[in-house]
Amino acid sequence: MDVPDYYSDLKYCPKCDKYVCYLMGMEHSYCVECGARVRLFSEQDWVAFNENITRNKPKGGRPKKDHRKDQRGRESA
Ligand SMILES: [Zn+2]
Repeated sequence: MDVPDYYSDLKYCPKCDKYVCYLMGMEHSYCVECGARVRLFSEQDWVAFNENITRNKPKGGRPKKDHRKDQRGRESA
C-alpha cells in the first residue's frame, strides 16, 4: 500500500486542461506533467467560487427591514 498523498490532492492545470498532480513550490504549485503553474480551481470553478462569495457578502448601506417580528403574545410574568 503505497499510494502517494498527492493523489488525493489535485490542482487544476490550465495547460493540460484538467486536474493534475502537482509539485509544491514556495508560493505556487506546478503541474507534474507539463510544468505549468496550477491553480486551486479551474476557471469555471473559480468563477463560481467567487460568485458565491460575492453573493453572500452583505451589501452595505442597505439595512434589512425586519418587520416580520411579530409581537409575541405578551407573557405576563
Ligand atoms: Zn499540465
